[in-house]
Amino acid sequence: MTSLKIALISPEVFPFAKTGGLADVAGALPKYLVRHGQEVIVIMPKYWAIDGEKFGLSDTGIAITVELGKETSQHRLFVSDHIPGVKTYFVEAPDYFDREQLYGTPNGDYPDNSLRFGFFAKSALAVLEALGFEADVLHCNDWQTGLVPVYLKEQAVNGGFLSNAKTLFTIHNIAYQGLFDRDELPKLGLGWEYFVMEGLEFWEKVSFMKGGIVFSDAVSTVSRKYSEEIQTPEFGYGLETILASRRAFLHGIPNGIDPEKWDPTTDDRLAARFSPSDIGPKEECKRALAEENGLTYSPDVPIIGMITRLAAQKGLDILSRCFEELVGLGINFVILGTGDDEYHRIFEGFKEKLSGKVGVNIMFDAAMAQRIYAGSDMFLMPSRYEPCGLGQLISMRYGTIPIVRRTGGLSDTVSEFEPRAMTGTGFLFSEYTAGALTETVKRALNLYKDETRWKKLVQNAMTYDSSWDRSSAEYIDLFHKILGK
Ligand code: ADP
Repeated sequence: MTSLKIALISPEVFPFAKTGGLADVAGALPKYLVRHGQEVIVIMPKYWAIDGEKFGLSDTGIAITVELGKETSQHRLFVSDHIPGVKTYFVEAPDYFDREQLYGTPNGDYPDNSLRFGFFAKSALAVLEALGFEADVLHCNDWQTGLVPVYLKEQAVNGGFLSNAKTLFTIHNIAYQGLFDRDELPKLGLGWEYFVMEGLEFWEKVSFMKGGIVFSDAVSTVSRKYSEEIQTPEFGYGLETILASRRAFLHGIPNGIDPEKWDPTTDDRLAARFSPSDIGPKEECKRALAEENGLTYSPDVPIIGMITRLAAQKGLDILSRCFEELVGLGINFVILGTGDDEYHRIFEGFKEKLSGKVGVNIMFDAAMAQRIYAGSDMFLMPSRYEPCGLGQLISMRYGTIPIVRRTGGLSDTVSEFEPRAMTGTGFLFSEYTAGALTETVKRALNLYKDETRWKKLVQNAMTYDSSWDRSSAEYIDLFHKILGK
Protein backbone atom coordinates (compact mmCIF):
# COMPACT_ATOMS: atom_id res chain seq x y z
CA MET A 1 0.00 0.00 0.00
CA THR A 2 1.17 3.49 -0.73
CA SER A 3 2.18 5.74 2.11
CA LEU A 4 -0.35 8.46 2.94
CA LYS A 5 0.08 11.95 4.34
CA ILE A 6 -2.12 12.31 7.40
CA ALA A 7 -2.76 15.42 9.50
CA LEU A 8 -4.27 14.57 12.87
CA ILE A 9 -6.05 17.60 14.36
CA SER A 10 -6.98 17.40 18.02
CA PRO A 11 -7.77 19.81 20.88
CA GLU A 12 -5.70 17.68 23.27
CA VAL A 13 -2.72 15.36 22.83
CA PHE A 14 -0.91 13.33 25.48
CA PRO A 15 1.58 14.17 27.01
CA PHE A 16 1.28 17.87 26.12
CA ALA A 17 -2.27 18.50 27.38
CA LYS A 18 -4.90 16.02 28.55
CA THR A 19 -8.37 15.96 30.05
CA GLY A 20 -9.46 12.48 28.93
CA GLY A 21 -9.08 9.47 26.67
CA LEU A 22 -9.00 11.61 23.50
CA ALA A 23 -5.53 12.85 24.46
CA ASP A 24 -4.28 9.28 24.87
CA VAL A 25 -5.55 8.40 21.40
CA ALA A 26 -4.12 11.52 19.77
CA GLY A 27 -0.76 10.89 21.43
CA ALA A 28 -0.48 7.20 20.56
CA LEU A 29 -2.21 6.63 17.20
CA PRO A 30 0.19 8.85 15.16
CA LYS A 31 3.21 6.95 16.46
CA TYR A 32 1.71 3.68 15.28
CA LEU A 33 0.60 5.09 11.92
CA VAL A 34 4.22 6.10 11.36
CA ARG A 35 5.41 2.61 12.29
CA HIS A 36 3.05 1.35 9.58
CA GLY A 37 4.80 3.58 7.05
CA GLN A 38 2.52 6.64 6.99
CA GLU A 39 3.63 10.27 7.16
CA VAL A 40 1.85 11.99 10.03
CA ILE A 41 1.78 15.43 11.59
CA VAL A 42 -0.30 16.55 14.56
CA ILE A 43 -1.84 20.01 15.07
CA MET A 44 -3.09 21.31 18.43
CA PRO A 45 -3.50 24.63 20.29
CA LYS A 46 -0.56 26.05 22.20
CA TYR A 47 -2.15 26.13 25.64
CA TRP A 48 -0.62 28.12 28.44
CA ALA A 49 -0.25 24.97 30.56
CA ILE A 50 2.00 23.13 28.06
CA ASP A 51 5.51 22.74 29.43
CA GLY A 52 7.49 24.04 26.43
CA GLU A 53 10.86 23.30 27.98
CA LYS A 54 10.07 19.74 28.99
CA PHE A 55 8.69 18.86 25.56
CA GLY A 56 11.25 20.85 23.55
CA LEU A 57 8.86 23.25 21.81
CA SER A 58 10.58 25.60 19.40
CA ASP A 59 9.38 28.45 17.21
CA THR A 60 9.25 27.32 13.56
CA GLY A 61 9.69 30.96 12.46
CA ILE A 62 6.63 30.45 10.27
CA ALA A 63 3.85 32.98 10.73
CA ILE A 64 0.36 31.82 9.90
CA THR A 65 -2.46 34.12 8.92
CA VAL A 66 -5.98 33.22 10.05
CA GLU A 67 -9.14 34.88 8.80
CA LEU A 68 -12.15 34.40 11.05
CA GLY A 69 -15.23 36.42 10.18
CA LYS A 70 -14.10 40.00 9.86
CA GLU A 71 -10.91 39.43 11.84
CA THR A 72 -7.54 38.60 10.30
CA SER A 73 -4.67 37.80 12.64
CA GLN A 74 -1.12 36.48 12.51
CA HIS A 75 0.20 33.73 14.74
CA ARG A 76 3.44 32.00 15.57
CA LEU A 77 3.70 28.28 15.01
CA PHE A 78 5.67 26.04 17.39
CA VAL A 79 6.84 22.47 16.90
CA SER A 80 7.96 19.56 19.05
CA ASP A 81 9.65 16.25 18.20
CA HIS A 82 8.65 14.69 21.50
CA ILE A 83 6.46 12.01 19.88
CA PRO A 84 8.91 9.79 17.95
CA GLY A 85 8.68 10.21 14.19
CA VAL A 86 5.85 12.75 14.43
CA LYS A 87 6.05 16.52 14.26
CA THR A 88 3.50 18.09 16.59
CA TYR A 89 2.59 21.68 15.71
CA PHE A 90 1.18 24.17 18.21
CA VAL A 91 -0.79 27.23 17.13
CA GLU A 92 -0.10 30.23 19.34
CA ALA A 93 -3.05 32.51 20.15
CA PRO A 94 -2.67 33.94 23.67
CA ASP A 95 -6.13 35.53 23.67
CA TYR A 96 -7.69 32.13 23.17
CA PHE A 97 -5.35 29.61 24.72
CA ASP A 98 -3.46 31.30 27.56
CA ARG A 99 -5.97 30.14 30.14
CA GLU A 100 -5.71 27.95 33.17
CA GLN A 101 -7.84 25.13 31.73
CA LEU A 102 -8.48 23.71 28.26
CA TYR A 103 -12.24 24.15 27.94
CA GLY A 104 -13.56 25.82 31.08
CA THR A 105 -13.50 26.14 34.84
CA PRO A 106 -15.54 24.12 37.38
CA ASN A 107 -18.13 26.91 37.05
CA GLY A 108 -18.72 26.19 33.37
CA ASP A 109 -17.30 26.31 29.85
CA TYR A 110 -15.40 29.37 28.66
CA PRO A 111 -18.04 31.64 27.06
CA ASP A 112 -15.99 32.14 23.88
CA ASN A 113 -15.39 28.44 23.14
CA SER A 114 -17.07 28.81 19.74
CA LEU A 115 -14.51 31.39 18.68
CA ARG A 116 -11.62 29.55 20.37
CA PHE A 117 -12.28 26.34 18.48
CA GLY A 118 -13.65 27.94 15.33
CA PHE A 119 -10.33 29.74 15.24
CA PHE A 120 -8.45 26.51 15.92
CA ALA A 121 -10.22 24.75 13.03
CA LYS A 122 -9.44 27.58 10.65
CA SER A 123 -5.86 27.81 11.87
CA ALA A 124 -5.26 24.09 11.25
CA LEU A 125 -5.92 24.64 7.54
CA ALA A 126 -3.63 27.67 7.56
CA VAL A 127 -0.89 25.59 9.21
CA LEU A 128 -1.09 22.92 6.51
CA GLU A 129 -0.88 25.54 3.80
CA ALA A 130 2.02 27.37 5.45
CA LEU A 131 3.90 24.08 5.79
CA GLY A 132 3.01 23.04 2.25
CA PHE A 133 1.78 19.74 3.76
CA GLU A 134 -0.57 18.34 1.14
CA ALA A 135 -2.43 15.96 3.41
CA ASP A 136 -4.38 13.11 1.86
CA VAL A 137 -6.55 12.88 4.96
CA LEU A 138 -7.35 15.37 7.71
CA HIS A 139 -8.22 13.31 10.77
CA CYS A 140 -10.42 15.49 13.02
CA ASN A 141 -11.37 14.62 16.58
CA ASP A 142 -14.44 15.64 18.59
CA TRP A 143 -16.52 18.82 18.42
CA GLN A 144 -13.55 21.16 18.86
CA THR A 145 -12.46 20.22 15.32
CA GLY A 146 -15.97 19.90 13.86
CA LEU A 147 -15.60 23.01 11.70
CA VAL A 148 -12.43 21.78 9.97
CA PRO A 149 -14.39 19.86 7.28
CA VAL A 150 -16.77 22.81 6.94
CA TYR A 151 -14.00 25.33 6.30
CA LEU A 152 -12.21 22.83 4.08
CA LYS A 153 -15.30 22.45 1.88
CA GLU A 154 -15.59 26.26 1.59
CA GLN A 155 -11.95 26.52 0.65
CA ALA A 156 -12.14 23.64 -1.84
CA VAL A 157 -15.04 25.28 -3.69
CA ASN A 158 -12.63 28.03 -4.65
CA GLY A 159 -10.08 25.41 -5.74
CA GLY A 160 -7.77 26.28 -2.86
CA PHE A 161 -4.94 24.36 -1.22
CA LEU A 162 -6.00 20.85 -0.07
CA SER A 163 -8.89 20.77 -2.53
CA ASN A 164 -8.26 17.02 -2.96
CA ALA A 165 -7.92 16.26 0.75
CA LYS A 166 -10.50 14.04 2.47
CA THR A 167 -11.67 14.21 6.06
CA LEU A 168 -12.34 11.66 8.77
CA PHE A 169 -14.22 12.88 11.84
CA THR A 170 -13.84 10.72 14.96
CA ILE A 171 -16.36 10.93 17.78
CA HIS A 172 -14.80 10.14 21.14
CA ASN A 173 -17.87 11.07 23.20
CA ILE A 174 -21.09 12.23 21.60
CA ALA A 175 -22.40 13.77 24.81
CA TYR A 176 -20.10 16.77 24.35
CA GLN A 177 -21.26 18.49 21.16
CA GLY A 178 -20.12 22.12 21.13
CA LEU A 179 -23.53 23.84 20.93
CA PHE A 180 -23.59 27.61 20.53
CA ASP A 181 -25.93 30.51 19.96
CA ARG A 182 -26.90 31.11 16.31
CA ASP A 183 -25.43 34.62 16.52
CA GLU A 184 -21.97 33.05 16.60
CA LEU A 185 -22.29 32.00 12.96
CA PRO A 186 -21.29 35.32 11.33
CA LYS A 187 -18.39 35.68 13.79
CA LEU A 188 -17.18 32.30 12.55
CA GLY A 189 -17.28 33.60 9.00
CA LEU A 190 -20.07 31.21 7.98
CA GLY A 191 -23.18 32.26 6.06
CA TRP A 192 -26.79 31.56 7.08
CA GLU A 193 -26.99 28.88 4.39
CA TYR A 194 -25.22 26.67 6.96
CA PHE A 195 -28.00 27.22 9.51
CA VAL A 196 -30.22 24.46 8.12
CA MET A 197 -31.13 20.96 9.18
CA GLU A 198 -28.74 19.47 6.60
CA GLY A 199 -26.01 21.76 7.94
CA LEU A 200 -24.97 23.02 11.37
CA GLU A 201 -28.39 23.77 12.85
CA PHE A 202 -29.41 21.69 15.87
CA TRP A 203 -32.52 22.74 17.79
CA GLU A 204 -31.94 26.42 16.95
CA LYS A 205 -28.28 26.20 17.96
CA VAL A 206 -25.07 25.89 15.99
CA SER A 207 -23.57 22.41 16.52
CA PHE A 208 -19.87 21.93 15.87
CA MET A 209 -20.20 18.17 16.23
CA LYS A 210 -22.90 18.10 13.59
CA GLY A 211 -20.52 20.01 11.32
CA GLY A 212 -18.01 17.19 11.71
CA ILE A 213 -20.63 14.52 11.07
CA VAL A 214 -22.31 16.14 8.07
CA PHE A 215 -19.34 17.62 6.20
CA SER A 216 -16.74 14.84 6.62
CA ASP A 217 -16.10 12.14 4.07
CA ALA A 218 -16.39 9.52 6.82
CA VAL A 219 -17.21 9.40 10.51
CA SER A 220 -15.77 6.98 13.00
CA THR A 221 -16.09 6.29 16.67
CA VAL A 222 -13.94 4.41 19.11
CA SER A 223 -15.65 1.01 19.24
CA ARG A 224 -17.95 -0.97 16.99
CA LYS A 225 -20.70 -1.29 19.57
CA TYR A 226 -20.73 2.48 20.26
CA SER A 227 -21.00 3.15 16.51
CA GLU A 228 -24.27 1.19 16.59
CA GLU A 229 -25.48 2.61 19.89
CA ILE A 230 -25.17 6.25 18.82
CA GLN A 231 -27.71 5.58 16.06
CA THR A 232 -30.36 5.09 18.77
CA PRO A 233 -32.20 7.71 20.88
CA GLU A 234 -30.79 6.26 24.12
CA PHE A 235 -27.18 7.01 23.18
CA GLY A 236 -27.30 9.47 20.27
CA TYR A 237 -28.02 12.65 22.25
CA GLY A 238 -30.28 13.90 19.47
CA LEU A 239 -27.84 13.08 16.64
CA GLU A 240 -29.08 9.49 16.14
CA THR A 241 -31.16 10.24 13.04
CA ILE A 242 -28.40 12.04 11.21
CA LEU A 243 -25.94 9.29 12.16
CA ALA A 244 -28.30 6.54 11.03
CA SER A 245 -28.73 8.35 7.72
CA ARG A 246 -24.94 8.33 7.33
CA ARG A 247 -24.62 4.70 8.45
CA ALA A 248 -22.66 3.73 5.33
CA PHE A 249 -20.00 6.29 6.28
CA LEU A 250 -19.92 5.39 9.99
CA HIS A 251 -17.18 3.11 11.29
CA GLY A 252 -16.10 1.77 14.68
CA ILE A 253 -12.41 1.29 15.42
CA PRO A 254 -11.48 0.41 19.01
CA ASN A 255 -8.81 2.39 20.80
CA GLY A 256 -5.64 0.63 21.80
CA ILE A 257 -3.24 1.26 24.62
CA ASP A 258 0.49 1.78 24.46
CA PRO A 259 1.98 -1.57 25.56
CA GLU A 260 5.30 0.09 26.32
CA LYS A 261 3.71 2.59 28.67
CA TRP A 262 1.52 0.03 30.46
CA ASP A 263 3.84 -2.90 31.16
CA PRO A 264 3.79 -4.85 34.44
CA THR A 265 7.05 -6.59 33.53
CA THR A 266 9.00 -3.30 33.59
CA ASP A 267 6.83 -0.78 35.49
CA ASP A 268 9.14 0.72 38.12
CA ARG A 269 6.28 2.43 39.93
CA LEU A 270 5.13 -0.95 41.26
CA ALA A 271 6.13 -2.77 44.46
CA ALA A 272 6.99 -5.81 42.27
CA ARG A 273 6.95 -6.72 38.61
CA PHE A 274 5.05 -9.65 37.13
CA SER A 275 4.13 -11.32 33.84
CA PRO A 276 1.59 -13.86 32.55
CA SER A 277 4.04 -16.67 33.25
CA ASP A 278 5.00 -15.29 36.67
CA ILE A 279 1.90 -13.81 38.29
CA GLY A 280 3.02 -14.43 41.89
CA PRO A 281 4.64 -11.01 42.52
CA LYS A 282 1.28 -9.30 41.79
CA GLU A 283 0.39 -10.21 45.39
CA GLU A 284 3.16 -7.85 46.57
CA CYS A 285 1.46 -5.04 44.66
CA LYS A 286 -1.84 -5.91 46.35
CA ARG A 287 -0.28 -5.88 49.80
CA ALA A 288 1.33 -2.48 49.11
CA LEU A 289 -1.95 -1.08 47.78
CA ALA A 290 -3.84 -2.29 50.86
CA GLU A 291 -1.26 -0.67 53.12
CA GLU A 292 -1.29 2.61 51.19
CA ASN A 293 -5.08 2.79 51.55
CA GLY A 294 -5.31 1.67 55.18
CA LEU A 295 -7.06 -1.60 54.28
CA THR A 296 -6.80 -4.82 56.26
CA TYR A 297 -4.86 -7.07 53.89
CA SER A 298 -5.84 -10.69 53.28
CA PRO A 299 -5.08 -12.79 50.18
CA ASP A 300 -8.63 -14.18 50.45
CA VAL A 301 -10.32 -10.79 50.31
CA PRO A 302 -10.24 -9.38 46.78
CA ILE A 303 -9.66 -5.71 46.14
CA ILE A 304 -11.84 -4.05 43.52
CA GLY A 305 -10.17 -0.99 41.98
CA MET A 306 -11.86 1.95 40.25
CA ILE A 307 -10.12 4.82 38.45
CA THR A 308 -12.61 7.15 36.92
CA ARG A 309 -14.01 10.58 36.35
CA LEU A 310 -16.69 10.84 39.03
CA ALA A 311 -19.44 11.62 36.53
CA ALA A 312 -22.97 10.28 36.01
CA GLN A 313 -21.82 8.46 32.83
CA LYS A 314 -19.66 6.13 34.90
CA GLY A 315 -22.46 4.25 36.70
CA LEU A 316 -21.80 5.63 40.17
CA ASP A 317 -25.50 5.95 40.99
CA ILE A 318 -26.11 2.20 40.72
CA LEU A 319 -22.84 1.49 42.47
CA SER A 320 -23.65 3.71 45.43
CA ARG A 321 -26.94 1.87 45.86
CA CYS A 322 -25.26 -1.51 46.37
CA PHE A 323 -21.86 -0.41 47.66
CA GLU A 324 -22.36 -1.42 51.30
CA GLU A 325 -23.81 -4.77 50.27
CA LEU A 326 -20.77 -5.48 48.09
CA VAL A 327 -18.36 -4.63 50.88
CA GLY A 328 -20.47 -6.87 53.14
CA LEU A 329 -19.74 -9.81 50.80
CA GLY A 330 -16.09 -9.64 51.83
CA ILE A 331 -14.62 -7.28 49.25
CA ASN A 332 -12.38 -4.25 49.70
CA PHE A 333 -12.48 -1.22 47.42
CA VAL A 334 -9.89 1.32 46.28
CA ILE A 335 -11.25 4.30 44.35
CA LEU A 336 -9.32 7.05 42.58
CA GLY A 337 -11.17 9.84 40.84
CA THR A 338 -12.28 13.43 40.62
CA GLY A 339 -15.45 15.03 39.35
CA ASP A 340 -18.89 15.85 40.69
CA ASP A 341 -19.04 17.07 44.30
CA GLU A 342 -22.02 14.84 44.93
CA TYR A 343 -19.93 11.71 44.35
CA HIS A 344 -16.99 13.09 46.31
CA ARG A 345 -19.32 13.31 49.32
CA ILE A 346 -20.95 9.92 48.80
CA PHE A 347 -17.69 8.01 48.52
CA GLU A 348 -15.91 9.93 51.30
CA GLY A 349 -18.93 8.94 53.42
CA PHE A 350 -18.44 5.24 52.57
CA LYS A 351 -14.77 5.51 53.43
CA GLU A 352 -15.59 6.82 56.88
CA LYS A 353 -18.31 4.28 57.54
CA LEU A 354 -16.43 1.26 56.19
CA SER A 355 -12.97 2.03 57.50
CA GLY A 356 -10.30 -0.60 56.83
CA LYS A 357 -12.29 -1.87 53.83
CA VAL A 358 -12.52 1.14 51.52
CA GLY A 359 -9.85 3.54 50.23
CA VAL A 360 -11.07 6.72 48.52
CA ASN A 361 -8.66 9.11 46.81
CA ILE A 362 -10.26 12.25 45.40
CA MET A 363 -7.48 13.45 43.08
CA PHE A 364 -5.88 12.94 39.66
CA ASP A 365 -2.69 10.93 40.15
CA ALA A 366 -1.15 8.93 37.30
CA ALA A 367 1.33 7.06 39.52
CA MET A 368 -1.35 6.02 41.97
CA ALA A 369 -3.47 4.87 39.03
CA GLN A 370 -0.68 2.49 38.03
CA ARG A 371 -0.47 1.07 41.56
CA ILE A 372 -4.24 0.49 41.58
CA TYR A 373 -4.23 -1.16 38.15
CA ALA A 374 -1.53 -3.54 39.36
CA GLY A 375 -2.55 -4.12 42.97
CA SER A 376 -6.28 -4.75 42.56
CA ASP A 377 -7.79 -8.15 41.79
CA MET A 378 -10.75 -6.77 39.88
CA PHE A 379 -11.54 -3.50 38.12
CA LEU A 380 -15.07 -2.15 38.06
CA MET A 381 -16.63 -0.10 35.23
CA PRO A 382 -20.44 -0.11 35.58
CA SER A 383 -20.78 2.66 32.98
CA ARG A 384 -24.13 3.82 31.66
CA TYR A 385 -22.35 4.33 28.34
CA GLU A 386 -18.68 4.02 27.36
CA PRO A 387 -17.48 4.99 23.85
CA CYS A 388 -14.39 2.81 24.25
CA GLY A 389 -12.97 2.96 27.76
CA LEU A 390 -9.29 2.60 28.49
CA GLY A 391 -9.50 1.46 32.11
CA GLN A 392 -10.59 -2.07 31.22
CA LEU A 393 -7.76 -2.41 28.67
CA ILE A 394 -5.12 -1.18 31.11
CA SER A 395 -6.43 -3.32 33.96
CA MET A 396 -6.34 -6.45 31.76
CA ARG A 397 -2.69 -5.72 30.95
CA TYR A 398 -2.04 -5.77 34.70
CA GLY A 399 -3.96 -9.01 35.26
CA THR A 400 -6.78 -7.19 37.05
CA ILE A 401 -10.10 -8.64 36.00
CA PRO A 402 -12.65 -6.22 34.52
CA ILE A 403 -16.24 -6.30 35.76
CA VAL A 404 -18.11 -4.13 33.26
CA ARG A 405 -21.48 -3.23 31.88
CA ARG A 406 -22.15 -4.60 28.38
CA THR A 407 -22.03 -1.25 26.56
CA GLY A 408 -19.86 0.45 23.94
CA GLY A 409 -16.17 -0.45 23.99
CA LEU A 410 -16.56 -2.41 27.22
CA SER A 411 -18.76 -4.86 25.36
CA ASP A 412 -16.31 -5.10 22.43
CA THR A 413 -13.18 -5.67 24.49
CA VAL A 414 -14.21 -7.75 27.52
CA SER A 415 -15.59 -11.26 27.08
CA GLU A 416 -17.34 -13.30 29.78
CA PHE A 417 -15.18 -15.97 31.39
CA GLU A 418 -16.52 -19.43 30.67
CA PRO A 419 -15.49 -21.68 33.58
CA ARG A 420 -15.65 -24.91 31.55
CA ALA A 421 -13.80 -23.80 28.46
CA MET A 422 -11.70 -21.41 30.57
CA THR A 423 -11.99 -18.75 27.89
CA GLY A 424 -12.82 -15.06 28.35
CA THR A 425 -11.28 -12.14 30.19
CA GLY A 426 -13.84 -10.77 32.65
CA PHE A 427 -17.45 -10.45 33.79
CA LEU A 428 -20.29 -8.51 32.16
CA PHE A 429 -23.83 -7.42 32.95
CA SER A 430 -26.47 -5.83 30.74
CA GLU A 431 -29.22 -4.28 32.83
CA TYR A 432 -28.34 -0.89 34.26
CA THR A 433 -29.36 -1.78 37.83
CA ALA A 434 -27.70 -2.23 41.22
CA GLY A 435 -29.12 -5.77 41.25
CA ALA A 436 -27.41 -6.82 38.00
CA LEU A 437 -24.17 -5.26 39.18
CA THR A 438 -24.33 -7.11 42.51
CA GLU A 439 -25.04 -10.46 40.83
CA THR A 440 -22.04 -10.03 38.55
CA VAL A 441 -19.70 -9.12 41.38
CA LYS A 442 -20.92 -12.25 43.20
CA ARG A 443 -20.06 -14.32 40.11
CA ALA A 444 -16.57 -12.85 40.10
CA LEU A 445 -16.20 -13.46 43.82
CA ASN A 446 -17.14 -17.13 43.44
CA LEU A 447 -14.57 -17.64 40.74
CA TYR A 448 -11.96 -15.82 42.79
CA LYS A 449 -12.19 -18.68 45.30
CA ASP A 450 -11.21 -21.17 42.58
CA GLU A 451 -7.49 -20.58 42.42
CA THR A 452 -6.79 -22.61 39.26
CA ARG A 453 -9.50 -21.01 37.18
CA TRP A 454 -8.75 -17.53 38.48
CA LYS A 455 -5.12 -17.90 37.46
CA LYS A 456 -6.16 -18.89 33.95
CA LEU A 457 -8.52 -15.92 33.81
CA VAL A 458 -5.69 -13.58 34.83
CA GLN A 459 -3.47 -15.05 32.11
CA ASN A 460 -6.23 -14.64 29.52
CA ALA A 461 -6.66 -10.99 30.48
CA MET A 462 -2.92 -10.26 30.47
CA THR A 463 -2.46 -11.70 27.01
CA TYR A 464 -5.46 -9.93 25.42
CA ASP A 465 -4.22 -7.96 22.40
CA SER A 466 -5.17 -4.32 22.95
CA SER A 467 -2.19 -2.84 21.16
CA TRP A 468 -2.44 0.06 18.75
CA ASP A 469 -0.84 -2.11 16.07
CA ARG A 470 -4.13 -3.68 15.15
CA SER A 471 -6.28 -0.55 15.47
CA SER A 472 -3.85 1.69 13.58
CA ALA A 473 -3.94 -0.81 10.69
CA GLU A 474 -7.75 -0.46 10.69
CA TYR A 475 -7.40 3.34 10.49
CA ILE A 476 -5.07 3.00 7.51
CA ASP A 477 -7.59 0.75 5.74
CA LEU A 478 -10.27 3.33 6.41
CA PHE A 479 -8.11 6.19 5.09
CA HIS A 480 -7.62 4.23 1.86
CA LYS A 481 -11.32 3.54 1.64
CA ILE A 482 -12.14 7.26 2.03
CA LEU A 483 -9.64 8.06 -0.71
CA GLY A 484 -11.24 5.44 -2.94
CA LYS A 485 -7.95 3.56 -3.21
P1 ADP B 1 -12.84 8.93 29.86
O1 ADP B 1 -12.07 9.36 28.63
O2 ADP B 1 -14.32 8.87 29.68
O3 ADP B 1 -12.47 9.69 31.09
P2 ADP B 1 -11.36 6.41 29.59
O4 ADP B 1 -11.49 5.11 30.33
O5 ADP B 1 -11.44 6.36 28.11
O6 ADP B 1 -12.45 7.40 30.21
O7 ADP B 1 -9.96 7.11 29.95
C1 ADP B 1 -9.66 7.55 31.23
C2 ADP B 1 -8.16 7.61 31.37
O8 ADP B 1 -7.84 8.55 32.41
C3 ADP B 1 -7.52 6.31 31.80
O9 ADP B 1 -6.19 6.28 31.29
C4 ADP B 1 -7.52 6.42 33.33
O10 ADP B 1 -6.51 5.62 33.93
C5 ADP B 1 -7.22 7.88 33.51
N1 ADP B 1 -7.78 8.47 34.75
C6 ADP B 1 -9.07 8.77 35.02
N2 ADP B 1 -9.20 9.33 36.24
C7 ADP B 1 -7.96 9.37 36.77
C8 ADP B 1 -7.43 9.85 38.02
N3 ADP B 1 -8.21 10.38 38.96
N4 ADP B 1 -6.10 9.75 38.21
C9 ADP B 1 -5.31 9.20 37.26
N5 ADP B 1 -5.73 8.74 36.07
C10 ADP B 1 -7.04 8.83 35.81
